[in-house]
Amino acid sequence: MRLLLATKTVEPERIKEAFKCGETLIAENKVQEIKQKFEGLKNFSHEQHFIGHLQTNKIKEILKYNISCIQTIDRMSLAEKLHNRLTLENKTMDVLIQINTSNEESKFGYAPSESLNFVKEVAKFKTLKIKGLMTIGLFSSDKEKVRACFKLLKSIQQDIINAQIPNVEMNELSMGMSGDLEIAIEEGATIIRVGTAIFGERQYPDSYYWNENSEID
Ligand SMILES: *Cc1c(COP(=O)(O)O)cnc(C)c1O
Repeated sequence: MRLLLATKTVEPERIKEAFKCGETLIAENKVQEIKQKFEGLKNFSHEQHFIGHLQTNKIKEILKYNISCIQTIDRMSLAEKLHNRLTLENKTMDVLIQINTSNEESKFGYAPSESLNFVKEVAKFKTLKIKGLMTIGLFSSDKEKVRACFKLLKSIQQDIINAQIPNVEMNELSMGMSGDLEIAIEEGATIIRVGTAIFGERQYPDSYYWNENSEID
């Protein structure tokens, strides 16, 4: 299992402290923030994923910054436009398929019941290397409801494995954040995404990163 540091709002100086402690997998939610921190971090060996809602008009920009995995493929228009751009640049990209396991309208992610078909369609884009699934669990103090989200992601993973789709690997389950990482690990997470528990409380509410300011296209 890998620990991914969710570094939104965290200054490069503090991120470098984490690198010194041996943690080298980080992720941002906004392309703008990747850009702002790029110079400050580029001389320090690390790996970076993207975990935010990706607008298609930011695809060209994000491909400039050495991102090794986009965890948030959640709609066909995004997969298609990303594929087109990667083809043009003669590149490939590791991706995870984001599933909305909590069934909350405010969260991005593909509908669980449709996700097998979605993966089959995305797999046709040869530049996209599907490595697994990602989800944001329900925000709830009811641990069993949170656990149900992670169990659902695991069962979708198994359905996809059983379907034996060419060009699809299903080794990664990116699930669990500061508030629910223990449950996610119990349910089989391979990547946990942790911000607050490492860097402290953020000034902005997460809705700032997840919906109000994110346009769906
Ligand atoms: C911010 C964020 C995290 C980390 O959240 P914490 O509660 O601070 O650990 C994980 N995943 C995504 C998609 C995020 O935006």
